Amino acid sequence: MSRTLRVRQSQTVVPFGAGAVFDIQGESFVATGIGDWPTRGRQRIDSPRLADRLGVTGFYAAPATPNDRYDVADAPGAPYIRFPSWLFCGACRRMKRWRIADEKHGQAPRCPSCSPARPLAPMRFVQICKAGHLSDVDWWFWAHSRRDGGERRTCEEREKLRFLVSDRASGLEALSVACAAKGCEAARDLLDILGTHGMRCSGRNPWQRASEAVPCPRPVQIVQRTAGNLYYPNVHSALDIPETDVVVHDDEGLAAQVREHHLWVSLCRDAASPRAVLFRQMIQEDTGADDGLIDALLAEEMGQAAPVADAADGGLPAGPSWPDLSREEWAAFTAPAPPATRDFALRETTLGLAGETEEPWAGIAGRFGRVVLADRLREVRALSGFTRVSPDATVVPADTSRRLKWLPAVEVFGEGIFLTLDRAALGDWEQDTEVRRRVAGLRADLERSFQKDRLASVTGPELAPRFVLLHTLAHLWIRQLSFESGYTTASLRERIYARPDQDQYGILVYTAAGDAEGTLGGLVRQGEPGRLAETLLRMTEAAAWCSADPLCAEHSGQGFGNLNRAACHACALLPETSCEAGNSLLDRALVVGGERVPGYLQSIVAAARNAAVTALEQP
Ligand SMILES: [Zn+2]
Ligand SMILES: [Zn+2]
Ligand SMILES: [Zn+2]
Ligand SMILES: [Zn+2]
Ligand SMILES: [Zn+2]
Repeated sequence: MSRTLRVRQSQTVVPFGAGAVFDIQGESFVATGIGDWPTRGRQRIDSPRLADRLGVTGFYAAPATPNDRYDVADAPGAPYIRFPSWLFCGACRRMKRWRIADEKHGQAPRCPSCSPARPLAPMRFVQICKAGHLSDVDWWFWAHSRRDGGERRTCEEREKLRFLVSDRASGLEALSVACAAKGCEAARDLLDILGTHGMRCSGRNPWQRASEAVPCPRPVQIVQRTAGNLYYPNVHSALDIPETDVVVHDDEGLAAQVREHHLWVSLCRDAASPRAVLFRQMIQEDTGADDGLIDALLAEEMGQAAPVADAADGGLPAGPSWPDLSREEWAAFTAPAPPATRDFALRETTLGLAGETEEPWAGIAGRFGRVVLADRLREVRALSGFTRVSPDATVVPADTSRRLKWLPAVEVFGEGIFLTLDRAALGDWEQDTEVRRRVAGLRADLERSFQKDRLASVTGPELAPRFVLLHTLAHLWIRQLSFESGYTTASLRERIYARPDQDQYGILVYTAAGDAEGTLGGLVRQGEPGRLAETLLRMTEAAAWCSADPLCAEHSGQGFGNLNRAACHACALLPETSCEAGNSLLDRALVVGGERVPGYLQSIVAAARNAAVTALEQP
């Protein structure tokens, strides 16, 4: 029914996941909901931990395609349909509403009126609403919108439209849609097309049938189809830590106590009965275990997900929309003997600075803690849904039919370096009044931000100084690594472990390519003793200065929603795909020091300068 395009399997979650609109060689398409995915050839992706947290039964990747050509009919892959369906001819300016019946396998749409046939181009504007709906602009209505209702009714030709361009004006004013019906001269230019115009919402997405539309009272907004607010994917990612470690290490003693409690077996047996509440209470009183731990242990015991409320209308349960996945990963990276499986191989190393007394090395040794090299990592990324207009708008599930209990996902393999700060040094720094004051300002901006919920999944319930510090360090480190090792910044990713409530204080920088051959050892080599310390030193020196200073350093709020301080494109920002937090909550001043605030690595900047001066003075 739909024209099938080949998009690489790894792209079917981001950037071409359900609901995304994208251009390929002059044509424009939208990725359908996963209800339209073929069942043949799709691949099961295992990630029990992620499935558990998202309250789904599992994941599938779109059927793999042998190469990444886009244009072969009936090939496997995820389904995409043409959108917008209103196209126009650049030669005769006729507009044509393209229907599925008009599709010709392997051929781009051509103008039926021109000879030789010219390619048709998609209209640049579409309409969206905050309920996540997307549709074509009602171009007939637009052309006739300057007329009153009575005049409008006299025109009955709904699809005889032209998309005109005038050379007497420029920009949107030069463009207009005109009715070409006999005797009708309705037309309107596109000067003020962006925005809301009281047009009705279709109540659905382009791949949904008319019968699936819901009455939607939201005002529609007309936007360019490439606009940034057309699509915000909700992507969740989990590292593949060994199954046996799903229960957190520092709770292991507690977990044993719970399991040995004389009421544990009763609780497991009667978990669904009213008595379970009593059993649970008594176990909690005796052991001090919290609900989270008991739920996790129950889930483990009974081989099923922790109970989540079922959605009233079937389909996916309404689990937390942004669950915390950091807990078990942090536990695995900080375990005394890091666990290992085929897809998760860790080895602990050091900065190689033991016994150093000379600055700046002694300073570096005192500020950082554990170094763990991950020779192999597997990451699963799943798409639960998307929003339009704004990230905090209504979420449209990846399965718009709401029948499916799985989500689309991809698995990627890679390697990484995990690094912690020195816990005591961090604790001291975090107590500083100026540090707290500076982060309190940022926290207030975050509270007001529509990104608040999404960011809370990485920052924890309350933004702490350590988050901004570790996040900025991750960015600076990635930039430095890319400078030194030839990795592009876009090929490196960060993971921030900075929840104070869980006593986290580390970062992971990793590569994750789309295939099983992601592990080449190049990144891990950058983490070896000596080399990593050098990188950290050069990173710190570089961070002390930005080419946009003094402007950048003195900023009291820059970036999207004022959620950055001293951080800009010239010094700290990364490609979107590398960052967990939308390039926000960054502040170099917390790393290297600022006007009034002490930086966590400030003494190293000073020591490095002194060392350089001393070296120059020596004959
Ligand atoms: Zn034409
Ligand atoms: Zn007309
Ligand atoms: Zn709507
Ligand atoms: Zn800057
Ligand atoms: Zn980031």
